[in-house]
Amino acid sequence: MTERIVYTQPSITALEHEYVMDAVKNGWGAHCYDYINRFEEHFARYLGVKHAVATSSCTGALQLGLAAAGIGAGDEVILADTNWIASVAPVVHAGATPVFVDILPDTWCIDPQQVERAITARTKAIIAVHLYGNLCDMDALRALAEKYQLHLIEDAAEALGSEYHHHKAGSMGAFGTFSFHGTKTMTTGEGGMFVTNNSELYERVLTLNNHGRSRHQQKQFWPDEVGYKFKMSNIQAALGCAQLERIDELVNAKREVFSRYKTLLSSYDAVALNPEPSGCRNAYWMPTVVFSESSNIQQFQLLEAFKAANIDARVFFWPLSSLPMFTDKPENKNAYGICQRAINLPSYPQMSIQQQEIVVSVIDGIIRSVK
Ligand SMILES: *Cc1c(COP(=O)(O)O)cnc(C)c1O
Repeated sequence: MTERIVYTQPSITALEHEYVMDAVKNGWGAHCYDYINRFEEHFARYLGVKHAVATSSCTGALQLGLAAAGIGAGDEVILADTNWIASVAPVVHAGATPVFVDILPDTWCIDPQQVERAITARTKAIIAVHLYGNLCDMDALRALAEKYQLHLIEDAAEALGSEYHHHKAGSMGAFGTFSFHGTKTMTTGEGGMFVTNNSELYERVLTLNNHGRSRHQQKQFWPDEVGYKFKMSNIQAALGCAQLERIDELVNAKREVFSRYKTLLSSYDAVALNPEPSGCRNAYWMPTVVFSESSNIQQFQLLEAFKAANIDARVFFWPLSSLPMFTDKPENKNAYGICQRAINLPSYPQMSIQQQEIVVSVIDGIIRSVK
């Protein structure tokens, strides 16, 4: 059997080694925040936002943001049914009620018309998740947020480097969040970022993330409220600084892998890949193939074929409403339908053309076998 083709893999160079070793050796005492401060500053500049707070995960960043925005018991938060659990768990922990709406058939992101239909007197926020690097219709969502006075939140964990009309994903909402988990476009091992242009929200997050201690509180060991602690370590931030210096290289590598898939798959009518509508730049975190309904291809066939070829392809996210702790919403037809005939393809900077050809040959085999 040929060597396993993994799903994702970080790109770590001598620069990452150097920064991390420096943090381990010297990043203590008076220097224990040096890389954290630098990472936050550089990230905010890269994104074009005023404030950034490094966190232990994207999930933690979301939890902080929701708390800072005052979202809690009795509130409803609207998000797409097609998502990873991390986008909704913080809503549940905040005591709010998630409302799952359907996705658009082409971007696989939240459908603004369905959002408007789901708005009630209790609705406080919309979470726009840019799925697999694809961009949400931010103009439509922003118009709804303004009309109904809602917080528009961006979970941009999968869209670092994606752009919507020259605005970076994550920079357009009340606040945005990112993940630096090892599978993401850039990594700190585990880690995340909270970003905002709203200085009040920023101050609230700083206080909440420091166990409720305001940075203006003069008294030592004196929290004014019960907060959280989702901080990133200086060592992780050192890794983040190095990765961020290479972010254009990392995003371009993702775009190149995607573009090769697109070329190799261009003659297959049965498959749709991540879109890049005009005005958008997709950073293609996760190249994904959706087979047409008429292809009759089903998920088990995809999983079997990729497993047999020793390729680590992953299933498209299940509808969150179909998980045991929520209530089924089969009326979200795109969310329930697309996941049954879609698959995430492996992609990482070091991926070779030969490996991509092997992946595509598996897809070719599937299409031929069900004809
Ligand atoms: C990966 C991911 C998360 C979770 O990130 P963590 O850093 O693991 O908490 C949240 N939202 C989306 C959209 C993700 O892809």
